Amino acid sequence: MAIQTAGIHYIGMRNEQAACYAAQAIGYLTGTPGVCLVVSGPGLIHAFGGMANAQVNCWPLLVIGGSVAQDHEGIGGFQECVPTQVELARPYCKYAARPASIHLIPMHVEKAMRLCKYGRPGVSYLDFPGNLLTTLVPEEAIPKQYLCPEPPLIYPNPRSIEEASRILLGAQRPLVILGKGAAYSKAEREVRELIENTNLPFLATPMGKGVVSDNSTKCVASARSHALQKADVILLVGARLNWILHFGRPPRFDPEVKIIQIDINAEEMHNSIKSAVAIQSDIKPAVAQITDILKAKRFNFGSDKQWWKELKLKCDGNKKGVEALAMDTTPPLNYYTVFHHIQEILPKNCIIVSEGANTMDIGRAMLFNDLPRHRLDAGTFGTMGVGLGFAIAAALYCRHYEPSKKVICVEGDSAFGFSGMEIETIVRYKLPIIIVIVNNSGIYSGVDKEIFEEMQSSGDVTQTTPPTVLSFATRYESMLNMFDRKGYFCTTIPEIQTSLKEALETNDRPSVINVIISPTADRKPQTFTWLTESKL
Ligand code: ADP
Ligand code: MG
Repeated sequence: MAIQTAGIHYIGMRNEQAACYAAQAIGYLTGTPGVCLVVSGPGLIHAFGGMANAQVNCWPLLVIGGSVAQDHEGIGGFQECVPTQVELARPYCKYAARPASIHLIPMHVEKAMRLCKYGRPGVSYLDFPGNLLTTLVPEEAIPKQYLCPEPPLIYPNPRSIEEASRILLGAQRPLVILGKGAAYSKAEREVRELIENTNLPFLATPMGKGVVSDNSTKCVASARSHALQKADVILLVGARLNWILHFGRPPRFDPEVKIIQIDINAEEMHNSIKSAVAIQSDIKPAVAQITDILKAKRFNFGSDKQWWKELKLKCDGNKKGVEALAMDTTPPLNYYTVFHHIQEILPKNCIIVSEGANTMDIGRAMLFNDLPRHRLDAGTFGTMGVGLGFAIAAALYCRHYEPSKKVICVEGDSAFGFSGMEIETIVRYKLPIIIVIVNNSGIYSGVDKEIFEEMQSSGDVTQTTPPTVLSFATRYESMLNMFDRKGYFCTTIPEIQTSLKEALETNDRPSVINVIISPTADRKPQTFTWLTESKL
């Protein structure tokens, strides 16, 4: 209530974990951290899932926790954590502290805000024991505190920029990789100028999508494996060589590849493989300076180059590969046809939140982003359950800054289950989020045909039921009945199309579109087995 009185926008959620996901998505979308406020003990521990996710994603977040009164510490106070909450929070934080007195609170708040935003962004935690919260002091007794200034812009070393440009000028098979660091740093203008002026092929990581439009002719997402494997020079822009990029190593990358790395964080340099040039800088000035040099040299990686011809050929071949699946509209539906027909109707500028294993992976290739920071998903930590919290943040962001924009939250049925009760929060705040549940009645790729048929005939879960099985064709859309509303239950493409069109016209409440697909639907066969292909 004090926070509301102070004029701070307050959103009451159902679970601290989802609240923490929402607050960090605000941080990612705006660059200014959202604050997640939690009760002591279990409240903070629920939030740790969110704090770990923000820290691993390098997103700014401030968490404020109440804690047991200091004279109850160690004797089993109500909702007391042992060891103390500051100690427990520290592994998920850049900064964790408990102000020693009321007078020190403003100083710690400024420091917490500064540390979560500066350098590589991350998490700050501030702990407030009950006795501190209930103490009263005259306002003039509190020392005046300056507000945290905006982070300084870090410029690159000019020598590294020259060296990077020299390597790019000599590349036979260059590739630009755009990560969510490029999205977070709002470098879209500089990066788009680089790509447009040089004609360099690019790929985006899942949340780097949209820094340059997925629909750009320079986007080689459909030739991802080939591009990674054969590139001789890679300009790595705000992305880490972790599992998402197969550690930058063979067999997914050429062992001789020259990496030009741009990152704000010095400790990230040469991580996993040695970079040819490591540029510690904010992305905007580094990319702008490289572009200037390449422009001055009239560098243009024309489409007549052999590398472009190869990439185009691969792109066309791979697109054909999914076409047959995308056009197969006979129920029970598969993932590809569902996404293809959703994509046809979605407004180009909508924010897409997505999670669930197959739902997220296939959706990444089939749903396009035109704009930066318009795709939110399980991220570097691979966290399932982030969807509704992220969607709430995205919808509040839109309400505030871009009211005409839509938020679509594409969830696997398993992923939806993690934070499903936040649907009440969404209804309460009248957020027009469109939740599409791609329901294969199971976790990940569901079950194979024989097991599915056997289960259907017996209808019972037994000791040998595969652990990936959930209840069959669950009516998730009827959660809206709790609020005297109706959701959509779809088993065919025309039903999906009609519901989605209707949902897009709805501006004061959420829609839930429950799409039943085949429990045996899966990804198309992959060249590489997932995750395991790099020899470490
Ligand atoms: P992705 O998952 O898209 O590959 P990562 O989260 O692995 O992206 O990497 C993002 C990188 O961007 C991090 O290493 C982070 O330090 C970096 N980064 C964040 N903000 C900036 C910025 N303003 N300028 C340069 N690099 C940044
Ligand atoms: Mg599922």
